[in-house]
Amino acid sequence: MEEHIYPNEARHLREAEDLGPWCIYPIVEELKPRAKAAGLWNLFLPESAHGAGLKNIEYAPLCEIMGRSFLAPEVFNCAAPDTGNMEVLARYGTPEQQDQWLKPLLAGQIRSSFAMTEPDVASSDARNIESAIVRDGDDYVIHGRKWYTTGATDPRCKILIFMGKTDPGADTYRQQSLILVHKDTPGVTVIRSLPIFGYYGVPDRASEVTFENVRVPASNMLLGEGRGFEIAQGRLGPGRIHHCMRLIGLAERTLSKMCRRAEQRVAFGKPVAEQSVTRERVAEARIMIEQSRLLTMRAAHMMDTVGNKEAKAEIAMIKIAVPNMACTITDWAIQIFGGGGTNNDFGIAAAYANARLLRLADGPDEVHRDQLARLEFRRQRTLDNQGGIANWTPALSNKALGPNLPGAKASAA
Ligand SMILES: Cc1cc2nc3c(=O)[nH]c(=O)nc-3n(C[C@H](O)[C@H](O)[C@H](O)COP(=O)(O)OP(=O)(O)OC[C@H]3O[C@@H](n4cnc5c(N)ncnc54)[C@H](O)[C@@H]3O)c2cc1C
Repeated sequence: MEEHIYPNEARHLREAEDLGPWCIYPIVEELKPRAKAAGLWNLFLPESAHGAGLKNIEYAPLCEIMGRSFLAPEVFNCAAPDTGNMEVLARYGTPEQQDQWLKPLLAGQIRSSFAMTEPDVASSDARNIESAIVRDGDDYVIHGRKWYTTGATDPRCKILIFMGKTDPGADTYRQQSLILVHKDTPGVTVIRSLPIFGYYGVPDRASEVTFENVRVPASNMLLGEGRGFEIAQGRLGPGRIHHCMRLIGLAERTLSKMCRRAEQRVAFGKPVAEQSVTRERVAEARIMIEQSRLLTMRAAHMMDTVGNKEAKAEIAMIKIAVPNMACTITDWAIQIFGGGGTNNDFGIAAAYANARLLRLADGPDEVHRDQLARLEFRRQRTLDNQGGIANWTPALSNKALGPNLPGAKASAA
C-alpha cells in the first residue's frame, strides 16, 4: 500500500477523470502484475480452491486495508462486482461456465457486471424485476432494460449476470432466474454511463444497459430455471460484507486525514483540533469505527461457522450500520476540511459519495431494517416458546392494590 497504492492514488483519480468511465485506467493495469507476483491476489473466496483459502474473518482485515483506497481493490483482484460474480460462478457455475468465465476473471483478464436493477420498477424488491428470459429451442431469448449496472462501460467487462423472469406464473420466489450474457452478444447495448453524485469512474462505474432480443445458449443458465433468488441471496451475503469491510478502511483513513488537518489548520487563534465540536466528533468517530469493525467481524465469524444463510441478521445489521457510520464520518471530515472537503484534492468528497451510495446499493437501509425486524420478531417468538424473558409481573397490579385503593380506581377509570 505504501510503496505502490498511496503514491499512485492521485494519478488514478486523474486518469478516471480524464479518460472517463468508458476507458481502462493504465495505472490499474500497471500495478496488477506486481500484486499478482507478490501473491496478493484473489484474497476473497472462502471455502474454494480458486481463492487464497482465507476465511471471511481472515480476509476482513485485508479487505479493510484495501478499502482505504479506491485504487487498491482492483489492483489485488478483489473489487466489486467481480468478487460477488466470481463467488457465484465458483459456487453455482458448471465446469464449462467456470472454464469460460471464472478462469479469466480470476486471472484479472476480464471484468464482469451484475444486471438486476431496472429503471421501471422498485428493484429493492427483486420480485418486481420484469425482464424476460424465454426458452426458444436450444437458446434463451432475453429482453429488458437495466440500470445501475456497475462496470458495464468498462471495455474489459465481458460477462454480465442477468436477472429476469423465466416463469411469471410460478411461485413468487421461483419466477426469477440468473443467466450469463456475453457483453458482445447482439442486442446488448450499454446506452449510457450514470454519474454518482457527479462522478464518473470512481467510486463506481454505473451504467444503463438494454437487452433487445438477446439470444444466448441454454447452457448459460445458472443452476437452473427459477433459482435466481437462491443464487442472489448467496451472492449478496459476501458482497455486502466486503463493502462493509472496505468502508471501515475508508472511514479509518478519513479519520486520520481529519485529525491531521484539524491539528494543522488554525482558525480564530487556535487549531481546529482544539474546538470542542471537533474533539467530540473525533472521539465519536473512533467509537463508531470500533463498533462497526466488531460487528463486521462478528458477521464474518458467523458466516464462517454457521453459513451465510444463518448469518443473515448479522449481515443485515452491518449493511445498515457501516455505510451510515462511514457517511457520518466522511460528512464530519468535509466540515473539518472546509471548502477543500468538497473537491477531491483530499479524497474526501469521493469517500462521502462512496459511503452514501452504499446506503442504497445492495439494498437500501430501509429494506435491511425491515428484514432485520422480521427476523427479530421471529427470534423473540422462538424465545417465548422456550420460556422467554418477555413475561413480567407489574409491581403494582390492580390485584396487588386491592379494590378500595386510589391507584386502583384511577387505573380502572
Ligand atoms: C452506485 C450504485 C451502484 C449499483 N450497482 C448495482 C449493480 O451493479 N447491479 C444492480 O443490479 N444494481 C445496482 N445498484 C442498484 C441498487 O441495488 C438499487 O438502487 C437498490 O436495490 C434500490 O433499488 P431502486 O433503486 O429501484 O429503489 P426502490 O426499490 O425504488 O426504492 C426506493 C426507496 O423506497 C424505500 N423503500 C423500498 N422498500 C422499502 C421497505 N421495505 N421499507 C421502507 N422503505 C422502503 C427506500 O427508501 C428506498 O431507498 C447500484 C446502485 C447504486 C446507487
